[in-house]
Amino acid sequence: AAKKAGRQAFRFFTQDMNQRSAEFLLLDNHLRKAVATGQFLLYYQPQIDIRSRAVIGMEALMRWRHPELGLVPPNRFIPAAEESGLIVPMGAWALKEACMQNKIWQQAGLLYAPIAVNVSARQFAENLEAVTLDALRAADLAPEYLELEVTESTLMDDVGAAIQTLNTVKRMGVRLAIDDFGTGYSSLSYLKRFPLDKLKVDRSFVIDILTDPDDAAIAGAVVSLAKNLRLKVIAEGVETAEQLSFLDQLGCDEMQGFLVAPPLPADQVPDFLARWQAGDI
Ligand code: C2E
Ligand code: MG
Ligand code: MG
Ligand code: MG
Repeated sequence: AAKKAGRQAFRFFTQDMNQRSAEFLLLDNHLRKAVATGQFLLYYQPQIDIRSRAVIGMEALMRWRHPELGLVPPNRFIPAAEESGLIVPMGAWALKEACMQNKIWQQAGLLYAPIAVNVSARQFAENLEAVTLDALRAADLAPEYLELEVTESTLMDDVGAAIQTLNTVKRMGVRLAIDDFGTGYSSLSYLKRFPLDKLKVDRSFVIDILTDPDDAAIAGAVVSLAKNLRLKVIAEGVETAEQLSFLDQLGCDEMQGFLVAPPLPADQVPDFLARWQAGDI
């Protein structure tokens, strides 16, 4: 029966919209079970300073280890979790898990850099301050070793409330980044009112940066905007050395992408760090 349910849940992702609500319920059921039985885990992708090659962060990216379907990527379940509100307990778990993992790396002398955690719109609006404080305390992690990634749409939903929430977590000492920058609807005039540390150039502008002058122009504009607002800027989805050197010439500070490493299970991070420091990658 579990096998059959697993297959049915999978159909949710592939079938047309007609059966959507029935299948949504099924997926929702599976997600509830997954939350209750702890089927989620985090992978970690290194973030690199382009000039110095230093590892300046790790982004935590959620995976669902489904008993039938194997490792399910977030685009397959985060939207449904957002819709049902399950993303709130899932996100609280992720925040705590990421902070605890970062503390473990620090105590092992492996890494002293922030862990970046993606925050959903629901979590942001509901209880971000409380879960952030809780995660930092549970892990006994210094707040400057946590960075929260939020999207433009999360912030633009209710700008007044967003500024308050950002100010509260900023006062705790946590770092703040805007994820997928340039893809959402955001008013540039608000950027100066948000207490930000970093903009993340979306992967969609990086993919064709060498061949599409429009993408190159947008990436360049995001980099200059960040510089002029005295923010750090990181490019996501860097896959080739040519993309990296182009971004470097634009003045981009930091990068993450398959060129350096895909998101890795926690137990592969020590080996990555050793090989990276030895110059083997
Ligand atoms: P994101 O935060 O923009 O994460 C970057 C995505 O790009 C990740 O996909 C990562 O694996 C992928 N990526 C990184 N480098 C490369 C590259 O060089 N080439 C290509 N093709 N892809 C690259 P992933 O892990 O599938 O996550 C997708 C999205 O799911 C994330 O986008 C984020 O919005 C969301 N997400 C992941 N984990 C969480 C979480 O814990 N909470 C919430 N609320 N959302 C999450
Ligand atoms: Mg992100
Ligand atoms: Mg992103
Ligand atoms: Mg993205």
